Amino acid sequence: MSEPLLYRSTRGLAPGAGIGEAIAAGLAPDGGLYVPEALPRLDPADFDPRGSLADTATRLLRPFFVGHALAAELPAICAEAFAFDAPLRPLGQHPGVAVLELFHGPSAAFKDFGARFLASCFRRLRKPDEPPLTILVATSGDTGAAVAAAFHRQPGVEVVILYPDGLVSPRQAHQLGCFGDNVRALRVAGRFDDCQRMVKAALNDAGLQARRPLSSANSISLGRLLPQMAYYAHASLQWQREHGRPLNFVVPTGNLGNALACVWVREMGLPVGEIELACNANQTLPDYFGGAAYAARPAVATLANAMDVGAPSNFERLRWTFPYDADLRQQLSSHSVDDATICATVLRHATRGEVFCPHTATAMHRFEQRDRQADWAVVATAHPAKFESVIEPLIGRTVPVPPALAAMLDRPAQAEPLEATDAALKAWLLGEGAEVCGPEQARRLG
Ligand SMILES: *Cc1c(COP(=O)(O)O)cnc(C)c1O
Repeated sequence: MSEPLLYRSTRGLAPGAGIGEAIAAGLAPDGGLYVPEALPRLDPADFDPRGSLADTATRLLRPFFVGHALAAELPAICAEAFAFDAPLRPLGQHPGVAVLELFHGPSAAFKDFGARFLASCFRRLRKPDEPPLTILVATSGDTGAAVAAAFHRQPGVEVVILYPDGLVSPRQAHQLGCFGDNVRALRVAGRFDDCQRMVKAALNDAGLQARRPLSSANSISLGRLLPQMAYYAHASLQWQREHGRPLNFVVPTGNLGNALACVWVREMGLPVGEIELACNANQTLPDYFGGAAYAARPAVATLANAMDVGAPSNFERLRWTFPYDADLRQQLSSHSVDDATICATVLRHATRGEVFCPHTATAMHRFEQRDRQADWAVVATAHPAKFESVIEPLIGRTVPVPPALAAMLDRPAQAEPLEATDAALKAWLLGEGAEVCGPEQARRLG
């Protein structure tokens, strides 16, 4: 068997880490993001054609875990994380397109896969005598619910969710606040980028870490990124077997975690063709891929709010994958879709009986703009019932709520207000927020 894969920081100033360390840490010590030293190569023939999504995930991820104790656990971890399917559903009116439905998990968005994989890894990485770990999550809506659902009642872990107050849908806010037990929700008086900055600052604060051990579960976490590759591998291998051609993807994109997973699958040698990043009115990526210098900027609020990102954190990993701008711009395309077009797309498909969430509609519109429409998958990142306040008034009827989501909405919800400053989060984590740890750990924190 080959040597263990080493993980390095995108910023190059941290020592190499093993997979366990990279997953546990979230962010590298130099503030960069962990990437494998080199992406492994695989052959489509390495995969069992009759294998389930969990089997594909296990085979795909094996080289990333070689030499670590988690390698032996990988089949069990993948069975837990991929306990529900990611079907590639043909779309009636376009023969060359299928919808890759990633919303059949408990929180009804694709982030369930990554969050559950991460939770399964954490459960196995934790030593019994370790102090409780606090997982900080900045969310523009969907990450928080997926992470909360995945870690709810897991021993030795507390989850603290930060979300921009008033900028998530009422149902999303309810999901974030409905867990209780080891999960606390903070509604921040700012935007998603503020929440993300506050989490990064806390993770980089050694003094704070010494008093309250922290980790992250954002899409910067390798333990979420790696499993997201599985559904692209599974779908593209299936398409290749059935049609003899690679599958192209349009991916609704915000922080670039989901799309980067697709890029890495192609780099590993699996049959992924073109990849288009469909963005909302946040122009950072479309402008860059259109030829402008990369320039992060403040996020603007849109109807596809889980993609309201002005500074996509995984861009650092994309740069690591393709260090030269000219090369990177050849690998991907990216376009912006405004709110009016999102509404028109939702409405047009609803009249044919297909209801898409605003994020999926962004990708659907981009697919429809293409000249060549064979062999495409439009990635459906969330169930439309999560965004009822946008969708229902538009289409003039209610969207049936999937059972797992309905169960969450039946519980009472609660969130605490927080100022959008790094100091406010630190104070909360060391002060009243320490209550979440229970009396025993609060004593240890002094
Ligand atoms: C998070 C999310 C996205 C964006 O995914 P990134 O990995 O941040 O690019 C798109 N759609 C939905 C529904 C999401 O929850």
